Amino acid sequence: MTATATNQRAYNFSAGPAVLPVPVLEEVRDELLCLPGARSSLLEMSHRDKQFVDILHDAENSLRSLLGIGDDHAVLFLQGGAALQFSMIPANLLRGTGKSAAYLQTGTWGKKAIAEAKKEGDVSIAYDASGSNFDHTPGSGDYNVPDDAAYLYYCSNETIQGVQFQSEPPCPGSVPLVCDASSDFLCRPLDMEKYGILYACAQKNAGPAGVTVVVIKRDLLGIGSDKLPGYLNYKNHADNDSEWNTPPTFAIYVLGKVAKWLANDVGGLDAMEQANRTKASLLYDVIDGSGRFYTGHARPESRSIMNVTFTLPNDDLQSKFISTAAEHDLVNLKGHRSVGGIRASIYNAMPLDGVKALAGFMSDFASKNA
Ligand SMILES: *Cc1c(COP(=O)(O)O)cnc(C)c1O
Repeated sequence: MTATATNQRAYNFSAGPAVLPVPVLEEVRDELLCLPGARSSLLEMSHRDKQFVDILHDAENSLRSLLGIGDDHAVLFLQGGAALQFSMIPANLLRGTGKSAAYLQTGTWGKKAIAEAKKEGDVSIAYDASGSNFDHTPGSGDYNVPDDAAYLYYCSNETIQGVQFQSEPPCPGSVPLVCDASSDFLCRPLDMEKYGILYACAQKNAGPAGVTVVVIKRDLLGIGSDKLPGYLNYKNHADNDSEWNTPPTFAIYVLGKVAKWLANDVGGLDAMEQANRTKASLLYDVIDGSGRFYTGHARPESRSIMNVTFTLPNDDLQSKFISTAAEHDLVNLKGHRSVGGIRASIYNAMPLDGVKALAGFMSDFASKNA
């Protein structure tokens, strides 16, 4: 094998920040020194400049058309990552209401969100999958949510465990449904009418770190108290078109390009979902056909099409798997420290060829080491 040039791209299975579409990176490179028509780099431009404001509106409109987001939802571009939403959601929708918020705890990120919500008010864990090491999502009859709950919160794709809801969990009509979609945003079409809030940090599946997209029903904007710190009040961001303060301009610009890539190159979210299912099946088929050399973490009906998690028979084989894979240009396959094992994150921008290369490597490694 010839030595790999250090500037040659490997197949990157990082959970996040993660792989981006090459055509997007190429466009960003080409426009970096001087944004066409702007006489400067976007990095040097005021967020109030008309050209940037157009870029922000363009990104919003691309998201609206990809997901079918109507006028009754606002689309916000915020900072503070997904983690700040763990606090902003209960600060706006729970604090001072005297209500209780219901949470479905299906993995590490949901658990962290619950810990933050408890600082703001009463929280009930309507479903808890921790007893089976977070390997599944609940079935429709497995939990109850009272009609007067402040909201029902869940994480559609638990990035660390590789556990994904196949569709929205049942929720009483009177209760806003709130979803952390950080690691599966834009991986498939959604019925946005079902959501009170759907949010995602960009750096898993939608862009670079620095921006978090919050899609929020406008009738939830007035619930937060005026006494909240200004940044924490959704209404301020909605009233000011995400320019209540300086938004993360560069991250929004790249996210807008990713959304355009999804619409124009991929052909929309239906096509993206098809491609994602094809990619995920390649890996799950190797796991299932390996005679238990590979053991999947998630139960088959809860498997994620974004993060494929599995273990090998022992730690030595796991280490050897990771280092040998890297020699084949398949990198960042180590599972999260809290779970161990292997995690292959195969987000939208991971090409089919990358997943084929990993599936081939897995079969080969199993036959040599089983
Ligand atoms: C990565 C991740 C987070 C945390 O995102 P930050 O931007 O680092 O705060 C939260 N939820 C999910 C599902 C994630 O994958």
